[in-house]
Amino acid sequence: MRSIRFSSTTLAVLVAAAGLSQQGMAASAGQWSYEGDTGPSSWETLDPAYASCGQGANQSPIDLASPIPAEQPAPVFHYSAGGVDMVNNGHAVQVNYQEGSTLTLDDRDFQLRQFHFHAPSEHTVDGRHFPLEAHFVHRDPVGNLAVVAVLFEKGESNQALEPLVETLPDKAGEKVRLDSVFDAADLLPIKTAHYRYNGSLTTPPCTEGVRWVVMKEHPTLSAEQIHAFETAIGMDNNRPVQPVNARVIVD
Ligand SMILES: [Zn+2]
Repeated sequence: MRSIRFSSTTLAVLVAAAGLSQQGMAASAGQWSYEGDTGPSSWETLDPAYASCGQGANQSPIDLASPIPAEQPAPVFHYSAGGVDMVNNGHAVQVNYQEGSTLTLDDRDFQLRQFHFHAPSEHTVDGRHFPLEAHFVHRDPVGNLAVVAVLFEKGESNQALEPLVETLPDKAGEKVRLDSVFDAADLLPIKTAHYRYNGSLTTPPCTEGVRWVVMKEHPTLSAEQIHAFETAIGMDNNRPVQPVNARVIVD
């Protein structure tokens, strides 16, 4: 009896230890960041699902240089107020969007799901970074992704951004309710001039096949507003630019 009890206790300890180590693995597997051992150059090693981050040939962001002129239809935005809450997810500050706002691109309608911010910008133009980049993330009914990027430059204060600046959640995991429903259309530049290229998500799992539209006009924001975003995000949350490889950038 004693030996049986002993071995069942041992077994219980072993099971508990195995459970703990599984939990430990679940907590650490796939965790990524913007610096150190879990930074962008290591993303592909953190989880098999992140293989594209290292092996993909059509990754984002990129430096936008030497575009080829193309007669392409402008993206058509059918945005209405739909931003209800803003979350600091530890990687970016993100505004989640209610259904009902779409982008028409390549004769397809994509729903706006959320928009979020990177500081400094992820894309560069002729090698130049901007202090802030907004990504408007859209999905069509079969799961195709289209992301519109707006690069903000330092200048006059941006009144459209102010309701967000005033309530930026500055702790990872913090979520705030916006005082009034936010209209993402207010953040878009007036002109529709843009770059187009085929790329990926700029965060793990770095999924490819993303239609990228990068607007050419740069709305401004003030030094104080830049500082507010940088403080809330807490680190540089830009993935370094990736090789263009065989891709064509059109404008
Ligand atoms: Zn992004």
